[in-house]
Amino acid sequence: MKVKFWGVRGSVPVSGPKTVKYGGNTSCVELNCDGKIIILDSGTGIRALGLDIMNRDFVKESRKNALNIFFSHVHWDHIQGFPFFRPAFYPEFEINLYGSLHSDVDIECALRGQMIAPYFPIRLRDMPASMNFKDIESGEVVQIGNIVVKSVSLNHPDGSLGYKIICENKSVAYIIDHEHTEKSKQRLVDFLKSTNLVIFDAHYTPEEYSGSDGDGGRKGWGHGTWVDAVELCREANIDQLILTHHGREDLDIERIELMAQKKFPNTVAAYEGLEIGLG
Ligand SMILES: [Zn+2]
Ligand SMILES: [Zn+2]
Repeated sequence: MKVKFWGVRGSVPVSGPKTVKYGGNTSCVELNCDGKIIILDSGTGIRALGLDIMNRDFVKESRKNALNIFFSHVHWDHIQGFPFFRPAFYPEFEINLYGSLHSDVDIECALRGQMIAPYFPIRLRDMPASMNFKDIESGEVVQIGNIVVKSVSLNHPDGSLGYKIICENKSVAYIIDHEHTEKSKQRLVDFLKSTNLVIFDAHYTPEEYSGSDGDGGRKGWGHGTWVDAVELCREANIDQLILTHHGREDLDIERIELMAQKKFPNTVAAYEGLEIGLG
């Protein structure tokens, strides 16, 4: 199984010299296994992924190509790249889109909504790829060939879904937009138990979250800290932790990565282009 990061920023895309090391696009991760492509979220990072897919050999060799996108939720930083996802503009592609309801809005409705006039010049229904929308609930298991995708509900305004993808005896979990609580802790520890690679929301520092930095705190805003991520992953006995959904400049991310590595050495702060092979 191969994992590649195409967007690692949280909340809003950024640009400029202070964010160039980790990249400026919002959430998008690609998994390759068993000859299949699984995409986690369609933040602005999916634009470059779509262009890359169009240049791959299998696209030129095969008439029908299937892609699978799993959405954590439909806040803009997780869907706003979709209108720029090049494969959706070709009828040769079949795209399976999985996600749960968020405040009674399903994935199809959310993607259609962000493209209605006058917000965008092209409608979702005008994208030529065939799209299969599949509503899933927390706890549901999806099987795609030899790949198993498990889901778990996370603690976030309007809800968020975490995923664990298991393929060829390796596992990757995607826990993004989640606020750590004592109540949710055991559920997540059980879900993540012995996972090989865990991608985890580390949007805030403990000081920002608690308000000890003097800025009012961030409790109830739906995100966690790198300390939450480290403690949970230690308890779940995972192999490698990837911090993502960055909400700060590169220098501060570097500092957080160093602090996290002191508590959990096999930690990396995700950056655009980071590739990890498992197995
Ligand atoms: Zn987000
Ligand atoms: Zn969110």
